[in-house]
Amino acid sequence: MTKHIKPRSVEILGVRIDDVTYGEACDIAEALIRRGGVHQFATVNPEFVMAARDDEEFRNVLANTALNVPDGAGVVWAAGRRGMKLRERVAGVDLMLELCALASRHRWRVFFLGAQPGVAERAAAQIVLTYPGLTVAGTHAGTPHRAEELPIVERVRAARPHLLFVAYGAPAQDKWLARNLPLLSPGASVGQEGTHGIVGMGVGGAFDFIAGVQKRAPAWMQQANLEWLYRLARQPWRWRRQTALIRFVVAAMLESR
Ligand code: UDP
Repeated sequence: MTKHIKPRSVEILGVRIDDVTYGEACDIAEALIRRGGVHQFATVNPEFVMAARDDEEFRNVLANTALNVPDGAGVVWAAGRRGMKLRERVAGVDLMLELCALASRHRWRVFFLGAQPGVAERAAAQIVLTYPGLTVAGTHAGTPHRAEELPIVERVRAARPHLLFVAYGAPAQDKWLARNLPLLSPGASVGQEGTHGIVGMGVGGAFDFIAGVQKRAPAWMQQANLEWLYRLARQPWRWRRQTALIRFVVAAMLESR
């Protein structure tokens, strides 16, 4: 995977975070799609960082992405402690929608992979309502399990997408992309419209939010950096995962002492 366009970045507990705005992330996606090849974006939040500490494969995946956007107020805060003021928090679901807007302008083909059966279809239909020019290359629930990935890769390859969103949750979705994006190139990207690159991005619960299966925190909670609290209240089983946030704060404070 190529990664020539280099924004300013900061390392937080061993994970690279790139200082980009939504607009710049879209510009980078556009440049990479025009250039060709396969490229992975990740939406890094404190859970990612803590998982990567204990998981070498995930750490390597995040080290080799074209772009790691700062998804999460915790990441922005930790970067500030390390002396880098990130200009914007770039939430995965919002970046996905911005990329879809760009895709509709450029007539790019978009594939939605993951979530429970039927959810990717509903999310795609909702996005087409918002961006009527969008070309849906395909939708499929599939599964992140290794044993079942070849037919899924074939399906995505046949659809020749420019953008591939994968909603299997982290780290499964990001590992899936790192393993399988290379298999989508270059044959997949030669269509009537010529050769183009592919940008793949893991998007967690984004399809659920867009399809209305899960409600997203109200805007005021997002602005107050309380999205985690809203999710915890609606999905209490997440508490164990969310202890990562506390461990992250402690580790980030120690790192920047
Ligand atoms: N998911 C899936 N297959 C799996 C596990 C998860 O399709 O084996 C989907 C799940 O339906 C949801 C998404 O992955 O749409 C992950 O959501 P979650 O909110 O856990 O992700 P996060 O945003 O926390 O990374």
